[in-house]
Amino acid sequence: MRKISALVMILCICISFSSCSRPELVDDGKISVVCAGFSAYDWVSVLCGDRISKIDLKMLGDNGADMHSYQPSVEDIARIGNCDLFIYSGGESETWVDDALKNAVNPDIIVINMVDVIGENAIEHEEHEGHEDHDEMEYDEHVWLSLKNACLIVNEIEHALETLDGENAEYYRGQCEEYTKLLMGLDERYEKMTKNTAGNTLIFGDRFPFRYLVEDYGLNYYAAFDGCSADTEASFEIITSLADKMDELHVDCIIVIEGSDKRLANTIKDSTKTGNKSILEADSIQSVSKKKMDMGYTYIGAMENNLELFEKALR
Ligand SMILES: [Zn+2]
Repeated sequence: MRKISALVMILCICISFSSCSRPELVDDGKISVVCAGFSAYDWVSVLCGDRISKIDLKMLGDNGADMHSYQPSVEDIARIGNCDLFIYSGGESETWVDDALKNAVNPDIIVINMVDVIGENAIEHEEHEGHEDHDEMEYDEHVWLSLKNACLIVNEIEHALETLDGENAEYYRGQCEEYTKLLMGLDERYEKMTKNTAGNTLIFGDRFPFRYLVEDYGLNYYAAFDGCSADTEASFEIITSLADKMDELHVDCIIVIEGSDKRLANTIKDSTKTGNKSILEADSIQSVSKKKMDMGYTYIGAMENNLELFEKALR
């Protein structure tokens, strides 16, 4: 009898020790949140507001590296496996996530896949040659470039925070309500702008992460690539057809994304009849460095800048 109770005691000690070794418990009971991209990171900060000091919030790849070539370090994988809430876009650039989550130490981890959250709003990638062997559907992962999607995802994050920190549910709900108003207000400004500008066609002479945005406002678009594949060279046919479209539809601007070398855009420009075209740099919010974040960069701010840019392009 004695022997059994001693064994039970040892077992209990073992169990309490092993749960003590979980980092988020060591960490003053802070809720730990890991985000694979900037938008989710920014949304968590906004929802947590004044409570942010109670949250251990981390964004992966905050050196500003291209999110499409990001690979997690051993430390990143440990961080994901031990966190309370993990948020990622759920696209093809993040196939590493499945493996990372297999090693999750925290059995109660909440995982938010943003493509899943937006449900039927998710846009399928067009079929490419050489990719037919994929059984699974591939979705465009740049879901944050739609303010309507942003509302859905922010709401989902708020629910997760309520689950993790029920005591402060009302606070998170209040923050969510305020921020949703901002998102919807900006969405309305986009609606108005696209109605009031003379043009309806955008030319993208670069990788093309803005599919969600153009679909939201029914804009016509021609892009050199479908999505963000980094190592695609544009063919002569693509370049001349974009240049012809610009001449035909009297479009004066070619849009590229942040950090572009503008080589392709310049080639398109030189292939137009007048050559008198400007190149505008839109912000895909997909590769944001810590330095930029420290300078007060926000999702709303970036989408406001994009609004101005698209207005210029459609004028
Ligand atoms: Zn991209």
